[in-house]
Amino acid sequence: MPQNNPKAIRNIGIYAHVDAGKTTITENFLYLSGAIRSLGSVDKGTAHTDYLEVERSRGISVRAASTTFLWKDTTINLIDTPGHMDFTAEVERSMRVLDGAILVVSAAEGVQAQTEMIWKALKSRNIPTLFFMNKIDRFGAEPQRVIHDIEQFLTPSILPIQYVRGLAEGNASISDAIQQVSGLAEGSACISDAIQQVSGLAESNACISDAIQCEIPYEDGLLERVCEGDDILLAQWLDGKSISPVVLQKSIQTQTKAGKLYPLLYGAALKSMGLKALLDAVVTYLPPPKINESDALAGIVFRIEQDKTMGKIAHVRLYGGALTNRDNVHNATQDIDEKITQIRKVSASKHEDIGYLAAGDIASVCGLSRARIGDILGSDSGVPVESHIAEPLLLVQVFPENDAAIPSLVAALQELSDEDPLLSLEWIKEERRLHIKIMGTIQLEILGSLLKTRFGLAATFGSPVVIYKETPSKAMTGYISYTMPKPCWAILEFYIKPLPRGSGVKTGGWVREEKLHSRYQRQVWQTLPSALRQGPLGWEVTDLEVTLLNGEHHIFHTHPLDFVTATPMGIMNGLLNTGTTLLEPMTACRISAPDTISSKILGDIVQMRGTFDPPVIVNGTFTVEARLPVATSMDYAVRLGAISGGRGLLSAHFDGYEPCPLELGTTTPYRGVNPADQAKYILYTRKALGDL
Ligand code: GDP
Ligand code: MG
Repeated sequence: MPQNNPKAIRNIGIYAHVDAGKTTITENFLYLSGAIRSLGSVDKGTAHTDYLEVERSRGISVRAASTTFLWKDTTINLIDTPGHMDFTAEVERSMRVLDGAILVVSAAEGVQAQTEMIWKALKSRNIPTLFFMNKIDRFGAEPQRVIHDIEQFLTPSILPIQYVRGLAEGNASISDAIQQVSGLAEGSACISDAIQQVSGLAESNACISDAIQCEIPYEDGLLERVCEGDDILLAQWLDGKSISPVVLQKSIQTQTKAGKLYPLLYGAALKSMGLKALLDAVVTYLPPPKINESDALAGIVFRIEQDKTMGKIAHVRLYGGALTNRDNVHNATQDIDEKITQIRKVSASKHEDIGYLAAGDIASVCGLSRARIGDILGSDSGVPVESHIAEPLLLVQVFPENDAAIPSLVAALQELSDEDPLLSLEWIKEERRLHIKIMGTIQLEILGSLLKTRFGLAATFGSPVVIYKETPSKAMTGYISYTMPKPCWAILEFYIKPLPRGSGVKTGGWVREEKLHSRYQRQVWQTLPSALRQGPLGWEVTDLEVTLLNGEHHIFHTHPLDFVTATPMGIMNGLLNTGTTLLEPMTACRISAPDTISSKILGDIVQMRGTFDPPVIVNGTFTVEARLPVATSMDYAVRLGAISGGRGLLSAHFDGYEPCPLELGTTTPYRGVNPADQAKYILYTRKALGDL
């Protein structure tokens, strides 16, 4: 069913660390909405959204699966995202097209490294978020401790809008704090009357009469909390006026939308408990999509998928205009037009051709065979800019089963790179070598099994090496005069200067048109990213500014692609002049363990060339925040487990690059033909460009 009323749409993502219960929650949503007749189970491999074979067999979600269902006349487009660290890029890509999120935290495992990572990403995009504390039925569930952790590690602005009772008896039940607070304010009811039983409770065996009083006295502050951010409400409350649930909800809604409050709900997905209330909260507190005022087409492709019969499927979110079957769509990023053959909505594993997609909505579009992730359809008006934190830190060589399998392996990896551009497939033809970039070894395992099941290819992988980078050590110029062997003419002079960490690549400078035709200057800047892919140490060059000081074309001799050939040589000349400094990836981590091994841990940190903040000791538990090189700390979680008898905890996330002494890092031989060897490079490129 196409949805024409943007107010009745919610585009939301569901996020969590691995095993927190996302897929189980999604199953319940589908079931409650009537989209599926029976409840699938992750444990039995029958979940409707874990649709890749590898996901079913391993029980983890790899690709963000989007699914649509109706709840109380609202269309909910839900993206179930993978929870493992290795797939953070996938998680971030989904965030670009969402208006709200559910962040799932387990009441037993609490805030994990991945939760922090996701939270950072949500927060930096200011996405309105509901917290859902799952697994309150679990033995060892400690909602109060988890709330405390959320406040300490994520945000002090959470607002639990329910009570949990009966935990101690293994009879957890949930009740609505808003109804209760409002009831109390009116002074009308005793607590037991004011409890509004959350639906879903009926199916669990929770017994209200046994329930002890509030185990989380914290929620008593609910009204104060809401009033803190709402002066009008505060005045009413201080005047002793009664505040209706509707008014209270409205204020929470406004503050949630502004990122000032994050409502928290409880539940146990495995027991189908608390999920109707969560869906109600999605509709009540998370905002509908904002759409452009103009009718002009504006949309983005945020995910690519392959379908056996339809070929490439592009997942599209529209911000303006509409799409209809058989429309010719303008892909602005690639400047091409392609015809839509079908527009699909996926609900559980079924799909339906809805033929029409309106602004604010999300659907899968067939027929855009050349679309890539991030492509803009129509204009980019209203489309959020891309920003990402995740970065693959490991480089891996891929080996085919035999030489004959190389072409099909390259094709398969190219298709997989369409779905995950960060794989950055490198095919070095002359050395017949294949490289990909990955986030971690789980990803590699999944890739291996995808190659086997989807493409029938038995590839193997070399051992992953840490991806270093390099940056100019000082400011210098680079020069190239490419005037031989004729016919050719391209002269360039660059000024290269280092920039602070995290700056990336900046460019500048403009040479007079008569000296260097503007189309050649554009060619220089278009070639620059590939010229910086490998520096003198064999790694990507970053944190620098490249300025074009001078350049010259020749009215007769210059061939159309001469500046494409000249640029890498001029840049490499400059980088050899500046010299480069090796940069290594760092992780920021928090380590906690029994106090008794604190000095051992601090010793390890120093040995790994790490730095740390003053440690804190609370109740015999020692906690330290440290910054460590990825290269020395990759296996520290395992080592920590061993020295702490399994009681140590490590949470880590990528935290930028830092200079690394050459002798402690790794350099890598230039892959392909090095532009430093100009004679060889010229011959090679001219052949490759078809100039000879
Ligand atoms: P995901 O990795 O976040 O998608 O989590 P899953 O939905 O795959 O669930 C992970 C495991 O936790 C499975 O074994 C589920 O059966 C179990 N699980 C999910 N929700 C609950 C819950 O509310 N209570 C308990 N006790 N187990 C749960
Ligand atoms: Mg899952």
